[in-house]
Amino acid sequence: MSDPIPAARYGERLSAARTALRGRGAGALLVGVGPQLRWLTGYAATPLERLTVLILPADGAATLLVPRLERDPAGRAPASAAGLLTIETWGETDDPTLAVAGALPRGADRGRLLLSDHLWALHVLRLQARFPSATFGLATEALRELRAVKDAEEIALLRAAGAAADRVMDAITAGRLVGRPEAEVAHEIRERLIDEGHDEADFAIVGSGPNSSSPHHEASDRVIGSGEALVLDLGGVRAGYCSDTTRTAWVTGGDPALAPTPEFRALYEVLQRAQAAAIAAVRPGVPCEGIDAAARTIISDAGWGAQFIHRTGHGIGLEVHEEPYIVAGNAEPLRVGHAFSIEPGIYLEGRYGARIEDIVVCAADGADALNRTSRDLRVVRGT
Ligand code: ZN
Ligand code: ZN
Repeated sequence: MSDPIPAARYGERLSAARTALRGRGAGALLVGVGPQLRWLTGYAATPLERLTVLILPADGAATLLVPRLERDPAGRAPASAAGLLTIETWGETDDPTLAVAGALPRGADRGRLLLSDHLWALHVLRLQARFPSATFGLATEALRELRAVKDAEEIALLRAAGAAADRVMDAITAGRLVGRPEAEVAHEIRERLIDEGHDEADFAIVGSGPNSSSPHHEASDRVIGSGEALVLDLGGVRAGYCSDTTRTAWVTGGDPALAPTPEFRALYEVLQRAQAAAIAAVRPGVPCEGIDAAARTIISDAGWGAQFIHRTGHGIGLEVHEEPYIVAGNAEPLRVGHAFSIEPGIYLEGRYGARIEDIVVCAADGADALNRTSRDLRVVRGT
């Protein structure tokens, strides 16, 4: 599949990264395989023990250093094909850190070098040994603000991933649930995500009954029964960009006597109001912690503050969890183009829990919700 990001965008990103490096007095970025390399060049390789690294000096030409046997795929990466960088290769008996040294401008090896967050310790230690006079920092210093603000193509990709996840969510809650182990439903979620165009189906949380009170429950062999809560949190990667959505159902098995308890209905009503308030609070300039507070105040006022045991959300893009984090203590103001989840939950340990999660983009006039399925409690037969 051709890259949906226009090649010119990689030129803009490389040049913005150079400006950020100069602003921080850093000499170069050394970016190994991972989301930062993909964002800068479009190159999505598998991280391995052989070093692949983009050397991006604050002033000077960019070099993508790759093992010789990976020259072809590296050459087809969008930034390479567009002539935005030079490919260098190293052979099986070479020391690749010597090639890194060769690609750095004079003196840069005695300055500050920013390493990608996902570079393996294996490579970091070798680079530190090669450049004993350099100081090291994380590439996030230079890239975090740039990557957090999504451009139009990225938002379109997140929207398409979200729409695909929405279709999976609706299909699963409309299907048979009673009598099936959680792990079997999780397997069906993964298959459906792939059928909907996802390249990876990373997670499928299926928490039934008491397991719904564990936010990061691993789907188990517990069999879903009638008269219980069911939290479904699913997502993966489609064309490089992540989906992530949660809905809560109550499975009746068709028995009116097994409808949601008044307490669960009350809990869900509070949760839904909290999630809506957080979405309504999204505006450019509002601090991230203000979005968290909008949800948390409502849940706390209802007496369940201690049962809302996680932050309200996380940024999303090439990574399922990235900047900005929607959490108390993060005073960073929202900017147009920030993409993040809003996912409050209430968990009564050992009994049941509920969560509602949407991905939203901060637009000039408020939140643009990428997940569009009903946020109401899904009371389903499941048979
Ligand atoms: Zn989620
Ligand atoms: Zn999430």
